[in-house]
Amino acid sequence: MAQNYQPIFILPEGSERTYGKDAQRTNIAAAKAVAETVRTTLGPKGMDKMLVNSIGDVIITNDGYTILDEMDIEHPSAKMIVEIAKTQQDEVGDGTTTAVVIAGELLKNAENLLSQDVHPTVIAKGYRMAGEQAMSTIEKLSEPISKEDTKLLNKIAMTAMTGKAAEMAREQLAELIVKAAILTIDESGKLDTDDIKLEKKVGFGVDDSELIEGILLDKEKVHSGMPSSIKNAKIALIDKELEIKKTEIDANIEIKDPSQMQAFIDMEEKMIRDMVENVAKSGANVVFVQKGIDDLAKHFLSKKGIFAVERVSDDNMQKLAKATGAKITNNLRDLAATDLGFAGIVEEKKLGDETFTLIGKCKNPRSVTILIRGGTPHVVDELERAVSDAVGDISATLSNGKAVGGAGAAEIEISRAVRKYATTLSGREQLAVLAFADALEVIPRTLAENAGLDPIDVLTELKAAHDKGQKWAGIDVFSGKVMDAWKQGVIEPLKIKTQAIKSATEVTELILRIDDVIASSKKGMPPMPQGGMGGMGM
Ligand code: ADP
Ligand code: MG
Repeated sequence: MAQNYQPIFILPEGSERTYGKDAQRTNIAAAKAVAETVRTTLGPKGMDKMLVNSIGDVIITNDGYTILDEMDIEHPSAKMIVEIAKTQQDEVGDGTTTAVVIAGELLKNAENLLSQDVHPTVIAKGYRMAGEQAMSTIEKLSEPISKEDTKLLNKIAMTAMTGKAAEMAREQLAELIVKAAILTIDESGKLDTDDIKLEKKVGFGVDDSELIEGILLDKEKVHSGMPSSIKNAKIALIDKELEIKKTEIDANIEIKDPSQMQAFIDMEEKMIRDMVENVAKSGANVVFVQKGIDDLAKHFLSKKGIFAVERVSDDNMQKLAKATGAKITNNLRDLAATDLGFAGIVEEKKLGDETFTLIGKCKNPRSVTILIRGGTPHVVDELERAVSDAVGDISATLSNGKAVGGAGAAEIEISRAVRKYATTLSGREQLAVLAFADALEVIPRTLAENAGLDPIDVLTELKAAHDKGQKWAGIDVFSGKVMDAWKQGVIEPLKIKTQAIKSATEVTELILRIDDVIASSKKGMPPMPQGGMGGMGM
């Protein structure tokens, strides 16, 4: 009896499904494509990318994370690579290109093994074992560094900025960054990068960048009659309004004749006068208010010679508290001298056509500002990214007190250790561990390629130097010779390397384990409004 087999559909119409090797191949190809994009930006001789969004805004950058973030990548496994960059950015603040390039190379080498019929789970396992070996090796090899080693810290900051827009002023910027870090570090040696505020301003040159031992607020005093500069400022921080809430009044008062109206106005005036009186009584000569200040209050404050700023964001209030030691309060009546903070100077500062309030010369500032200057908007933006990388690196270094040699030195040293470890294994896992060791060489190789050097020659020389026990032998990208990266001051925090290896390994494993991609059909998108949605997420 003939049987009629009907095809069975388990997925809705329009879904796409790829299995097995096809799924792996497409996933790997997409992820590799992402890595390939940022590869040419690696290192001091790396090139920049120009990103133009749909409304024509332009970003010129060398920063791996910024490039990937702005690219609006859609492919799901390509997106996973972008996440590596994001994690690296959040955890360390630098080394995003490194992490992504390593992931790309791990996947490329995995592809080779797949074509030799090594099972993906074996590769994943081998990679994980190699990754653990890599991290423990580099941890052991790393050099101790403390907050007293300002010279070395300066070098770390400078390494982060080499080859970026900040290059021309990197010595000076490094000094500002390290000083800022030392000022904000707490007793336990921890540094919160949020305590180092980066403020950028177009105008003058990079050399005019400065460290403000305190805060630069993009706010002006509220009344022209107030002094523009106050020495030995005693600062009150008030997280409510200096006005009478209209709603309170609406609810309670019913005015029947004109004399009542006058009484009401008088009462309101008295309440405001009392508020200002309370501020003055505490001894404050500067006051930052989180909400609004009544016009009359502004007038009274100015008559008392008090410098006042209104509508200060919560974030800035916290920073002001950290920088000046003031206590944030909403209780005006009990405002006392002990609630006040101190700053050597509070003054108006004109930068270009904007007026800022500078709260400087704080005694023990736990929150500081680096004012970044540069000739054009594109320059200051890229400067800020480089400075923020360096701040991240200093913080990462101080967090565990360890650093390593850069310029490819650390990667070669780790690769050697992993290769040695492979000899203790057998079979297919050994192949995977060896593939991992090879993959790490992508960093020195890319540094060489980007510098226009012959990567094979350079790698051979580098490896020979490491064989002779020069553990920080790296590439001098300017001369093409082998140098001692540590002695030459090309130094990076240990955490850049461990974090990069960790996330690259994890994501590679994740991608390798996928053998089936089921994509539902895209729902019809509503038409875009004309000219809208053009933002680059800046
Ligand atoms: P990432 O986003 O990974 O930080 P970078 O473009 O900042 O990418 O490049 C970092 C790489 O450049 C590191 O491997 C670092 O050791 C290397 N590097 C930095 N300065 C030098 C230098 N002067 N000589 C050689 N290599 C350097
Ligand atoms: Mg970097």
